[in-house]
Amino acid sequence: MAEALKNYIGDRWTESSGRETLPLINPATGESLGRVPLSTAGDVDAAVKAASNAFADWRRVPAVERARYLFRYKALLDEHRDELCEILTREHGKTLSESWGSLKRGIENVEHACGIPNLLMGESLEDVAGGIDTVTRRQPIGVFAGITPFNFPAMVPLWFWPYAVACGNTFVLKPSEQVPLSQARQFELMEEAGFPPGVLNLVHGAKEVVEAICEHPDISGVSFVGSTPVARLVYQEAAASGKRVQSLGGAKNFMVVMPDADLETTISGVVGSCYGCAGQRCLAGSTAVLVGDAYDTFLPKIVEATRALRLGNGLHEGVDMGPVISKTHRDRVLERIQNGIAEGANLVVDGREQTVPGHENGFWVGACLFDEVQPEMSIAKEEIFGPVLNVMRTDDLDSAVRLIQASEFANATSIFTTSGASARRFEYTSGVSMMGVNVGVAAPMAFFPFGGAKNSFFGDLKAHGRDSVRFYTDQKVVISRW
Ligand code: NAD
Repeated sequence: MAEALKNYIGDRWTESSGRETLPLINPATGESLGRVPLSTAGDVDAAVKAASNAFADWRRVPAVERARYLFRYKALLDEHRDELCEILTREHGKTLSESWGSLKRGIENVEHACGIPNLLMGESLEDVAGGIDTVTRRQPIGVFAGITPFNFPAMVPLWFWPYAVACGNTFVLKPSEQVPLSQARQFELMEEAGFPPGVLNLVHGAKEVVEAICEHPDISGVSFVGSTPVARLVYQEAAASGKRVQSLGGAKNFMVVMPDADLETTISGVVGSCYGCAGQRCLAGSTAVLVGDAYDTFLPKIVEATRALRLGNGLHEGVDMGPVISKTHRDRVLERIQNGIAEGANLVVDGREQTVPGHENGFWVGACLFDEVQPEMSIAKEEIFGPVLNVMRTDDLDSAVRLIQASEFANATSIFTTSGASARRFEYTSGVSMMGVNVGVAAPMAFFPFGGAKNSFFGDLKAHGRDSVRFYTDQKVVISRW
């Protein structure tokens, strides 16, 4: 049996104390990629001890010097970009260009965190009263932990730890047990960048590790990304033990197409948003709401573009869409498609039987498209997290917005239109946190906040940008009279 991956604790690669391991499988080929250990609460404790011991010295390192570690790390990520993308594609299945697209977004967070001397600055006011001055300072808090999902193995951890350590905290990361290989490599590069021992720690595993993180008294805060039920649980459990929490959950994203929308922008925007990464994106537009005449104009073109998508191994040229992550996930996606059929939706494009020659053991689901989807159907309400587009039809923009407002999720949404008035009305009323106008994937950049509302987000301060610095620091106020 292949040797299991190791944890990184302090400055050492150490074996997990857990006896159980899980197999890692390339979802495009079914080939073994090794094994991941299911670490224990004891491993979490060891990582937290290393991080706690490192904190006192790390917080004293001047911000400008902490940033230099990140500059070195960013250079290493650039240097190893092709290698990392290949690891990503092998472990997750997405195409190489999708791997690079996500790694690039991750690297941008490292770049943004390099500006920490500026981002950390406080405020001051002279003479708040006669002869009395006030300043605020942002101080690091201690040990933070990150828990991440399977769909963006290289990027999502980079939404968090670069900011946390740049602010002067230390960090424990638990990557998804389904895709831990890119993090294992990224931690080797982190070691090469020369971060002091204990500043960054890696613990592989699943539920037991998450529970131990939520309960550990010496962890000050948790950044989580994953499905809504687990996001809610982590928010509740970690907050109950006194931690700060930012917990990003699942999604059901609507794309509204107005009759005046530009044809080319809309078709590529809608199809790219829904089927990119085989629909396994929290920002995937999974429901197209075609308003009025847009139904007749756009639907045939969307169907045509969906049928043209080429399924295959993401390492190969000319592939538009890779497999889904696992057999279990494929079964879940197929079950949800079956529910849609049973509820009366019309499966116009049926990719359920599609496979890839020479890759018979891959976890394939070809692109699917449902027309005549009604709001009460389960496929209209639940996150499918696979390559399935729902098409709904409304008479006007306000009815489309009402559909969005009725959803339990509010992560992202898009409108396609050439009317500024329609776009403004949509932005003003949708209630969704990340909005695209003629953009299919409403992905804010590193320097803007990232995170949803309703059941897509639990917490107050979002990921990325200035919110991140607020989350990872406590603001102190000093009032002085001399
Ligand atoms: P998941 O919730 O199954 O797993 C996420 C993390 O939680 C993993 O590290 C996993 O080990 C852990 N976990 C899983 N079950 C647990 C349990 N019962 N108790 C404690 N820990 C548990 O999510 P996933 O399938 O890996 O990722 C896909 C989900 O993540 C989708 O719902 C997607 O929308 C969401 N997501 C959201 C965002 C966002 O920004 N809002 C970004 C990416 C993914």
